[in-house]
Amino acid sequence: MASVSVELHTPITGKFTQPTGLFINNEFVPGVDGRTFEVINPSTEEVITSVHEATEKDVDIAVAAARKAFEGTWKQTTPEQRGKYLVKLADLIEENKDLLAAVESLDNGKSITMARADVGAVAGVIRYYGGWADKIEGKVIDTNPDTFTYTKQEPIGVCGQIIPWNFPLLMFSWKIGPAIATGNTVVIKTAEQTPLSALIAARLIKEAGFPPGVINVITGFGKIAGAALSAHMDVDKVAFTGSTVVGRQIMKAAASSNLKKVTLELGGKSPNIIFNDADIENAISWVNFGIFFNHGQCCCAGSRVYVQSGIYDKFVERFKARALANKVGDPFLPDTFQGPQVSQLQYDRIMGYIQEGKKAGATVVTGGERHGDKGYFIQPTIFSNVTEDMKIMQEEIFGPVCSIAKFDTEEEIIKTANNSIYGLASGIHTKDLNTAIRVANGLRAGTVWINQYNMLHHQIPFGGYKESGMGRELGEAALANYTQVKSVSMRLGNALF
Ligand code: ADP
Repeated sequence: MASVSVELHTPITGKFTQPTGLFINNEFVPGVDGRTFEVINPSTEEVITSVHEATEKDVDIAVAAARKAFEGTWKQTTPEQRGKYLVKLADLIEENKDLLAAVESLDNGKSITMARADVGAVAGVIRYYGGWADKIEGKVIDTNPDTFTYTKQEPIGVCGQIIPWNFPLLMFSWKIGPAIATGNTVVIKTAEQTPLSALIAARLIKEAGFPPGVINVITGFGKIAGAALSAHMDVDKVAFTGSTVVGRQIMKAAASSNLKKVTLELGGKSPNIIFNDADIENAISWVNFGIFFNHGQCCCAGSRVYVQSGIYDKFVERFKARALANKVGDPFLPDTFQGPQVSQLQYDRIMGYIQEGKKAGATVVTGGERHGDKGYFIQPTIFSNVTEDMKIMQEEIFGPVCSIAKFDTEEEIIKTANNSIYGLASGIHTKDLNTAIRVANGLRAGTVWINQYNMLHHQIPFGGYKESGMGRELGEAALANYTQVKSVSMRLGNALF
């Protein structure tokens, strides 16, 4: 049998064993067709290793394993036990924090400090949903004295979970926590750019004691394994996080196969609004974090920055200084804030947008060029004097690039902020409570952060208005994506007709 693991090395962990197989039925196995693909280190552009590639045949095998578990062992498992497995997995993730974070930095390029925070959040999500497992309750509905009616929240079945590369482990946790807590089984396909950390988590899934087939992890390409999963006739639900373009394809695949349920968390072009009365230093810190955190590779990145005219010039000048202070470089250094973009493709796309912005006549306040000569690093880039018609103000760039424009009134900024096909997140910076709540009410976005930005939490629902998606992840709201209501109604009296 082809090898399903390899010895790798990071500066944090030294040598470690990295699984490279598909995780199906609690075992690592090679793909049926024997195909593998390379995983690139975005900091060095060198190959880290190769992992097995799932094709349609492997998707069939993984879905069959998940179906068998769903109809068998998992159905017989009590909600309390489901919760215990999840809590155990959260504990194991914390115990392996250094390893998981280091692999995330190696594979994705995110700084080790941020990767550690991600792993902490992953454990938080999984433990939180472990707590929900035995609190999924129905209702008794009194319609008249002769009937007894109750509802149950039943699992949907086999869930195909397709995740992106920007938060490989965190997206893994969002996609397994609520699905597993509510009694579903899962086949999760990681992004082809970042398959490594989820395979280590897969090993922990087995160690946590989950029965075989409950959580299966496959590595492969979107157009092959992802497409097969979203069109599969025996997958009951697909949950996807990624680009709006692919989100549409997934909906189409669901519609033309078995009308599987769909939840989508897609792109964004989120406005971050700074009023004249804001605490300017705090606002700059949050705007900086809002766009440059995770190298701008966040669906909720605050990429449209609107500053009220009274503080515009001062803001732009101070924000420039703040952005220049962000340390860009080797993700394994503890004070690095910004690592490389994830791939050559992403690097090229972002640099293309930067060229567009320059050509359109926006002012480069800082950045706009490659950082260093190796790896996919891009300087933190700020454009000012950006107008609404420019591509850099309209389209999701998914990189360390933000566009600043000036506004005068509250009415005007609500209109401008909503002038987007997206509606994922938004930010407001002001000391005036009335302004804050009025503007929050006016914004068409799934999340509004006031005097902060990018502060996601496992208890708080997250998701998009408009073309940013459908359904909510995190919090109690996510449970609705993974349950369906069964109404059971019983006649107590004699026949009616
Ligand atoms: P990006 O453009 O940032 O790489 P994508 O939306 O293409 O993001 O990818 C997110 C996830 O969707 C990845 O796991 C990828 O493999 C998967 N994917 C890409 N194309 C398809 C598709 N046609 N069907 C299903 N999944 C896909």
